[in-house]
Amino acid sequence: MFQAGRVLEAEVAWLLGGRIGSVVEGEVLAGQGAPVGLEDPATGLPMISYADAGAGVARQAAAGAARAQLAWMALSAAERGRRIWALGGLIRQNAEALARLESANAGKPLRDCRAQVARVAEMAEYWAGWCDKIEGRTVPVPSGHTVIIRREPMGVVLAITPWNAPLFTCGWNVLPAIAAGNAVVLKPSEYTPLTSIAFGLLAIEAGLPRGLVQVVAGLGATSGEALLAAPEVAMVTFVGGAASAARIAGTCAARMIPCVLELGGKSANIVFADADLPAAVQGAQQAIFASSGQSCVAGSRLLVQRPVHDRFVEMMAAASAKIRLGDPLDGATEAGPVATARQFAHVSGLVAAGVAEGAAALAAPRPEALPRDGFWVMPTILAGLTNESSAAQTEIFGPVVAAIPFEDEAEAVRLANATPYGLAGAVWTQSLGRAHRVAAGVRAGSFWVNGYGTIHVSVPFGGFGASGHGRSSGQEALAAYTQSKAVWVETAEQPALGFGHRP
Ligand code: NAD
Repeated sequence: MFQAGRVLEAEVAWLLGGRIGSVVEGEVLAGQGAPVGLEDPATGLPMISYADAGAGVARQAAAGAARAQLAWMALSAAERGRRIWALGGLIRQNAEALARLESANAGKPLRDCRAQVARVAEMAEYWAGWCDKIEGRTVPVPSGHTVIIRREPMGVVLAITPWNAPLFTCGWNVLPAIAAGNAVVLKPSEYTPLTSIAFGLLAIEAGLPRGLVQVVAGLGATSGEALLAAPEVAMVTFVGGAASAARIAGTCAARMIPCVLELGGKSANIVFADADLPAAVQGAQQAIFASSGQSCVAGSRLLVQRPVHDRFVEMMAAASAKIRLGDPLDGATEAGPVATARQFAHVSGLVAAGVAEGAAALAAPRPEALPRDGFWVMPTILAGLTNESSAAQTEIFGPVVAAIPFEDEAEAVRLANATPYGLAGAVWTQSLGRAHRVAAGVRAGSFWVNGYGTIHVSVPFGGFGASGHGRSSGQEALAAYTQSKAVWVETAEQPALGFGHRP
C-alpha cells in the first residue's frame, strides 16, 4: 500500500504550518515566480506545488541575512553554541516528522531518512561545541609589534544544495557556517525544499536570530542566480553537479568571492582476490544500491581482480535480487525509486547505452507491487564493459554499477584514477600492506579499507579533481568559513617608522 501523498500533506501541515515558501526573517514568504510542481517519486503522480521564490525574495533574504549576522556576532561565542545545540535538540524532537517528509518528497526509504535526520542533529551538537573554540594566535615578528591573527567570519554564505540528500546536505553546509559566525542563505534543490524549509523554521524556534538561516525555495536559474548576484553574499558553498558548478564557480570568480565545491564522483570499489568475499559483496551492495545509488560517494565502478571477477559478479547479482524494494514510507523498505522523472530518464539512458556498448545488464527482478508509473530502477550490474565505456565514465547517480576486471595492483590503481573525478573509493583485501599502498595511490578525498561509505561531521570531506575543492566538515571547515585578519599593535617605545616594509 503506497501512502506517499497523504502523509506529505500531514507532515507539511505539522512542520511547515501548511505553507511552502521561503523562510525569510522567520516568515514563510510565498514565491513571486512560476509554479514548481513536484511528483511523487513512488507513483509518478503530481504531489505538491509551490511558487519559485524569484529575485525579489532572494534579494530580501540576502539583505536580511547580513543584518542577522551582525546580531549573531553580538552574542557571546558560548551563547551561539547553546543556541545551535538547541537546534540539534529540536531536530531530535521532530525527527520522525522530518524523516517522513524527506522520505515522501525524495523517495528515500524511511529508515535511511531516520538515520540521516539523527546525523543532522549530531552535526548541530558537534558544531555547537566549536563556537567558543575558534581561537586566534600571535606571530613573533622582528619589529616591535604584537601581531594578533584573528579568525573572522566571511559574513553571508550562500549554500546551494542538491536533491539526493536534502536535509543532510542542509545540515552539513549550514551548521559549520553559522558556528563560524556567518549567516547563511540556503538555496535547496527545487525538487526537495521541504525539510530545508522546516530546518529554517526550527532555527527560529531554537533562538537563532531571525534571518540567520534564510531558506530560499526556488529554481537555480532564477532564485539561485539572483542570490549569486546579491552583493551581501561573501562566499558560496555548492553541492551538486558539474555543469551548475562550472557556472557558479565562474560567477564567484568574476565577483572575486571564494567557493567550496562538493561535486559528483565515479568512485572505484576495488576487490582483490584475497578479500573476504561475502563481506566485500555486502559492502559493494551498500556502496551502490544504498539510496538507489543517488549518493555522491556511490561505488559506481566495481573493479574486481580477474580470478574472482565472474564469481563475485554472480554473488552480487544473487544478493541484489534480495533487496527489498517498496514504498519508501514503509520502515522495512531497503530501496526506493529514484527521486525525479529527469533522473529516471538519465539513469535509464545510461543503462541502455551500456547495453549498446556490449554490457550484460544483470538486473534484480521487479516486485509486482511497485506502481507502474513511479521512477523505479532495479538494482543493476553492467558486466563486460571497459573502463573507457560511457557507463564507466559518466556519473549515473542511480542503482547501477559497472563491473570491470583487473589483473594486478598496478592496474587497479591505474583504472581507479582513470576518470576526471576523485571523490571516494575503497579497497577490499586481507593484505595490510596492499591496503595502505592502494589507499595512498588512489586520488580521492575519502577512501575506505574493507568498508564503504562512512563519513562523519568531524572528518574533512571533499573531492580531488572534478569532484570539487575545499572541505566543509571537520576542522578544515573552520578555515573555509572564516578569514584571517592580522592586527599589528605597535608596542615599541620608539617605533621605527618607514615605508620599507610594505609589499
Ligand atoms: P544540480 O547541479 O543540478 O543542482 C544543485 C543545486 O544547484 C540545486 O539547488 C539547483 O537549483 C542549483 N543550481 C543549478 N543551477 C544554478 C545556478 N545557475 N545558480 C544557482 N544555483 C543553481 O545537481 P543535482 O542534480 O541537484 O544533484 C546531483 C549532483 O550533486 C550529483 O552530481 C552528485 O554527485 C552531487 N552531490 C555531491 C555531493 C558531495 O558532497 N560531493 C553530495 C551530494 C550530491
